[in-house]
Amino acid sequence: MLDADFFRRWMTVAAASVDREAGRLTALDSAIGDADHGSNLQRGFRAVAATLEQEAPDTPGAVLALSGKQLISTVGGASGPLYGTLLRRTGKALGDAAEVDTGQLAEALRAGVEGVMALGGAAPGDKTMLDALVPAVDALGDGFAAARAAAEAGAEATTPLRARKGRASYLGERSIGHQDPGATSSALLIAALEEAAGTAEG
Ligand code: ADP
Ligand code: MG
Repeated sequence: MLDADFFRRWMTVAAASVDREAGRLTALDSAIGDADHGSNLQRGFRAVAATLEQEAPDTPGAVLALSGKQLISTVGGASGPLYGTLLRRTGKALGDAAEVDTGQLAEALRAGVEGVMALGGAAPGDKTMLDALVPAVDALGDGFAAARAAAEAGAEATTPLRARKGRASYLGERSIGHQDPGATSSALLIAALEEAAGTAEG
């Protein structure tokens, strides 16, 4: 089972991973955006990690709701409200259970991803974070390793796509040939689930 500790670990592992990969995320965003995706998420996830340490929310849903709120208030770019909505909606769907299983997490994340679609109006294939998140949620029933592999494959598969949403869409054809920064950071977020779980998969 996955408890509040697991969800706090997920967020702190994600924060460390974003810290490590911020340069790469910003480089990807410099090719088809405005070169701020790494620094945006770094600022946001550092704030998440700091708040979780201070407030220590005690249910999975509360951990994600607080984390999403922090992302919305600290990240300036499009990705802040989108990731914030993902985590808040997922947290809301988890309710106030003290522990959840992988199936419940998959179901809740599905609700979170639907929130991202409703907010941003994008669908899979538009070269956004959804191209990593949707396959990851679909694969989560087979475990965290499967979700991670699906997210990474989804992020890589954005390279030949033409962006239809977000800043990269202004480039039209010129967005082709570059991996989407948000799909890349989504793959990091999903990979952090596996790392947070260690070998004892919930
Ligand atoms: P900004 O584009 O405002 O500079 P970021 O650089 O932080 O924000 O984030 C860009 C990423 O946000 C993109 O790579 C894409 O994955 C994601 N994104 C942008 N618009 C949307 C949308 N409408 N729906 C889903 N994801 C989006
Ligand atoms: Mg940007």
